[in-house]
Amino acid sequence: MKKIWDFHGGIHPKENKDQSNQSKITNAGIPPQLILPLQQHIGQRAELVVAVGDRVLKGQLIADAHGPVSVAVHAPTSGTVTAIEEHEVPHPSGMSDLCVFIDTDGKDEWCELYPCDDYSTLSPTEILGRVRKAGIAGMGGAGFPTEIKLRPPHEDKVNTLILNAAECEPYITADDRLMRERAEEVILGFEIMAYILQPGECLIGIEDNKPEAIKALREAAKETQIEVVVIPTKYPSGGEKQLIKILTGKEVPNGRIPADISIMCQNVATATAVYRAVRFGEPLISRVTTFTGDCIANKGNQQVLIGTPVSWLLEKNGYLAQKGSRLVMGGPMMGFTLHQTNIPTVKTSNCILAASQKELPQPDPAMACIRCGMCSEVCPAELLPQQLYWFAKGQEFEKAEHHNLFDCIECGACSYVCPSSIPLVQYYRYAKGEVRQIKADQEKSNQARERFEFRQERIEREKEEKEAKRKARSEAAAKAQAAKKAAAEAEAKEGKTEPAPAPESVKTDIKVNAAPEVTLEGLQKKLLMAEDKLSKMKAAWKDAQENNPERAEKLALAVESSKANVAKFKQQITDLGGGDASGTPSAPTGPSLEELESNLEKTKGKLQLILNTLEDAKQNHPDRVEKLERAVAKNHTRVASAQAALTEAREQQTTESKG
Ligand code: SF4
Ligand code: SF4
Repeated sequence: MKKIWDFHGGIHPKENKDQSNQSKITNAGIPPQLILPLQQHIGQRAELVVAVGDRVLKGQLIADAHGPVSVAVHAPTSGTVTAIEEHEVPHPSGMSDLCVFIDTDGKDEWCELYPCDDYSTLSPTEILGRVRKAGIAGMGGAGFPTEIKLRPPHEDKVNTLILNAAECEPYITADDRLMRERAEEVILGFEIMAYILQPGECLIGIEDNKPEAIKALREAAKETQIEVVVIPTKYPSGGEKQLIKILTGKEVPNGRIPADISIMCQNVATATAVYRAVRFGEPLISRVTTFTGDCIANKGNQQVLIGTPVSWLLEKNGYLAQKGSRLVMGGPMMGFTLHQTNIPTVKTSNCILAASQKELPQPDPAMACIRCGMCSEVCPAELLPQQLYWFAKGQEFEKAEHHNLFDCIECGACSYVCPSSIPLVQYYRYAKGEVRQIKADQEKSNQARERFEFRQERIEREKEEKEAKRKARSEAAAKAQAAKKAAAEAEAKEGKTEPAPAPESVKTDIKVNAAPEVTLEGLQKKLLMAEDKLSKMKAAWKDAQENNPERAEKLALAVESSKANVAKFKQQITDLGGGDASGTPSAPTGPSLEELESNLEKTKGKLQLILNTLEDAKQNHPDRVEKLERAVAKNHTRVASAQAALTEAREQQTTESKG
């Protein structure tokens, strides 16, 4: 017999299971309308693949898994999609979510399914694909996607695979009846999971208050390696970490998951869903749900289509509303109160409890904590519930987190024993919600900061690269000038030429010499070039004044030098009798057609460059946009003038050739 351990704390509330576990599972039937939330699981909401007006068949996909942690949703019977809209879903907060409404047609017509007689002919990956396709989420409570859970992180080996058959919560008997009546399916589903994970041992943990289920499981598991381990009845032995402690003596460390210590837990109903998905190709479209409580006439367990409205089920099972004090989805310890009944059952709905005032009296008004410590004594997670309560109440969420708030499994054992009737679990749920919100906000702001820093870094890098290029250019120019000067001096020493004039601070391309072969036409060309250079220098100087003051000083000198050049050429033209002092030629010896064409091309090229820069600035340098837009306007004018000059010159040439 396998050795078992005990976990800290725990309580023994009245079981109240006999009311619902005496009869066989019946079929709840097909309601006139089904309401299917697109998110019945942990993770991302499923993505719609149907539209209003579509006819759907039983088992047909209506919303596909979206992203790695997501679960598909299927039509539980045939009918027509009549609406896709927000509707209240089962949640403690009473929140709404997107739902698909199907008006059923009563035909219960299946879509095509792909069964498999022998799962061992499939690879583990193929089986996982079937599990994902079938939209199976953990049916024991949290609704984590089963396919993901069956893929332990980092290729961790699972040494112990556990089937959680404890069903420790009072009133609920859905798993109990399932094991009694469909033990073979449970065992086959568990074997398929073991085939995927290849664990060292397979254990089923079941409380000793379910003798018939224990017998049925042992019978079904006879020829297998699966061991059915009977454990004492104590709440909450069905908590994942608690069951692991009972069966293996190991503790899952704070903030970690069982896979981190090579253990995995699956639920009984999930195992049957896996079996049906692999063997018959059936998606998860129904589940066994317990109907119990003094205000239900027909207590028992029913196979319920996912999406069936609670109101329809209550009516069918003889709900005595006038007697009712509290309607709960789930059990009295971990379930939540339903404030309205027009909400659907989902993949995790294991119980509808309609309790009378006598069964589940309204809690007494909360009183001050008397620090009795009873809550700590019963806490199965070995927390300090009264401390967590103070922190949650005082909104000291960080301290609550440091006191392992997230290890709280919300079992309600502390609230159950609290003599001051403090609704402790509600405080923990509130604190967890706040911490999650704070973290989500923090994550958002971190992402925004990272984006900003990345952009700043890029701008800085580009600036440095530009500066490095500029330095390299000026060093190369200085070297070239020095070499030229040295060569000129060497020539002068040899008596061949006069030494070259001292280099200017910024090299000018245009050299004027007074050699007798200088012509008026040549001077006019040089003047044009000098004027062009002067305007470029002025623009560069203006830009540097704003962005690079160090460079601006040098450019100021260059501007002066260019101005002097322009003046010099104008003077030389005047001296040669080519025009007035402004450089305007007296004879019609303007630039040639080729020059005008080349000027137009250059102007257009420059305009395009500025337009490109403007596009970039709109994305990355909004501060430069205004200036660049002005430059674009200016250069448009230049292009127009260049175009006009060229057109005029061409017309003139045509006239001359005719004349
Ligand atoms: S059981 Fe209630 S009264 Fe006692 S310490 Fe805990 S919170 Fe306080
Ligand atoms: S609800 Fe949380 S704090 Fe209270 S007993 Fe359960 S695990 Fe401990």
